[in-house]
Amino acid sequence: AICAPLPVLGAGISVPLATGGERSYAALDYAASAPALKRVWDDVAAYAPYYGSVHRGAGHLSQLSTDLFERSRATVAAFLGCRPDDELLFTRSTTDSLNLLAGALPEGCEVFVFETEHHAALLPWRSARLTVLDAPSGHDEAVRTLERALAARDPYGPALVCVTGASNVTGEIWPVRELAAAAHAHGARIVLDAAQLAPHRPVSLTELDVDWVAFSGHKLYAPFGAGVLAGRADWLRAAEPYLAGGGASRTVTRAEDGGVDVAWHTGAARHEAGSPNVIGAYAVAAACSALTEAGQDRLAAREQALLERLLTGLAELPGIRVLTLFGDDADRVGVVSFTAEGWHSSHLAAALSAEYAIGVRDGLFCAHPLVRTLLEAGRTEPGECGAPEETDGQALSAVRVSFGAGTPEEHVERFLEAVRELVTTGARLDYRTVDGRWVP
Ligand code: PMP
Repeated sequence: AICAPLPVLGAGISVPLATGGERSYAALDYAASAPALKRVWDDVAAYAPYYGSVHRGAGHLSQLSTDLFERSRATVAAFLGCRPDDELLFTRSTTDSLNLLAGALPEGCEVFVFETEHHAALLPWRSARLTVLDAPSGHDEAVRTLERALAARDPYGPALVCVTGASNVTGEIWPVRELAAAAHAHGARIVLDAAQLAPHRPVSLTELDVDWVAFSGHKLYAPFGAGVLAGRADWLRAAEPYLAGGGASRTVTRAEDGGVDVAWHTGAARHEAGSPNVIGAYAVAAACSALTEAGQDRLAAREQALLERLLTGLAELPGIRVLTLFGDDADRVGVVSFTAEGWHSSHLAAALSAEYAIGVRDGLFCAHPLVRTLLEAGRTEPGECGAPEETDGQALSAVRVSFGAGTPEEHVERFLEAVRELVTTGARLDYRTVDGRWVP
C-alpha cells in the first residue's frame, strides 16, 4: 500500500467541461508548477499579518521578518545539504538563479552543457565560451561525452558544467554524482539544475558533490516568486552584484569625478539587492520542512508506484510512444511525455481538458533541441502525428503528464482511461485551431 497524497491547494475543485456540466479537476502538470501544499499555505497565512521589510528597520515586524528570512535560508540550506561555507541566495526562480551564476563566471570561463537541457539551463551561457554536447543515450555515454569534451579544454582556465538532475521532458534522472566527479577530475565546476529533481528526490550538495544547485519554489509545492541558488561562495563573492541597488551596497559615496562610489556587501546580500521576497523565501522553507517531515523517501516510493501504473497503462494503448533518451529501464521521476499516432499533441491535450477535466501540457516544453532529438529519432514524417495544415514546428510536439506528492491514484486511472477512450474511439467534440492551439 502506498502512503496517502499530501493535502494540496485546489484538490477537489471542479471545472466546467465543454461537453456540459462540471468535473473535479485532475492537475497533471506538476512539472510546470505544482500546487502548493496546504501546510505551506497555512504557514504563510499565519505569518502574513506580521510581515515587514527585511534588513531594514528597528521595528518589531521588520526584525521578525529579518529573523524569519534568515531562518528560512538556514532551513533551505539544511534541506539541500549545504556545506558550512556555502552561500545560499534567494532568487526568483531557477531561470533567475542560473542567470545570476552566468553573470558570476570568472573571466574566460568555459561552459559545457548537454543539448538536452531546459532553455533556462542552456541559454544563460551564450556569452561564455560555450560547448553544447550531443544528447547521450545512457548514463555511461553521458559521462564519457563530458570527459572527452573536458579533456580537450584548456586545463588551466576556469570551467563550468551545467546539468539537469531530472529532465522536464522525459523525467529521466541524470548521473549527477558521476558527472560531478568527471567535472572535478578535469578541474571544472558543476551546477545542478534541480528544478525537476528536488520536488521528487532528496538533493544534497554534499552527497552529490556538486558546486551549486538551483531550483524553483513553485515546482516544490510553494507558491510563485521565489527560487534558490546555493553553493560555492568564492565566484559569487568575486562577481559584480546581480542587481545594483540598496541591500547589496555597504557604503555609497559621491565620487571625486562627480559620480558615485560603492563598496558592495560580500555575503548573500551582494546578490539580493532590493527588498527581499520574505514571503516567498518563507514559503520555500515551509515546503522544504513539509517534504522532510512527510519523508522524501516515502513520497518517492509512492510516486514510483503511480509512475509504474502510468507507464504500464500507456504501454497497453495502441499508437502511444513514450519519449525516452535512456531507455525503458531508466530511473525517472513522475514526468512522462508521449505522442499518440494520428493525433496532434495539442488536440489530445485539448480533448483531455475539455472532455475529462484533466490538465496536462503539450508542446516542446522549453527544451526544443531535446524534444526535436527525441521525436526525430522515432518518426518518419513530421506531420505524422499532426493535422495536415500544421507546420513542422507545431507538429513536432508531445503531450506531457506529470504528477507528485498531491496526486491521488484516481487521477492516474482517469488519465489512462481518458487516453484509451480518445485513441480508440476518438474525441466527442469537434476541434479547430486558433493561433496554433486546438479548441473545441
Ligand atoms: N529547469 C528545468 C529542468 C525546468 O523544468 C524548468 C521549468 N520548466 C526550469 C529550469 C525553469 O524554471 P523556472 O521557470 O521556475 O525558472
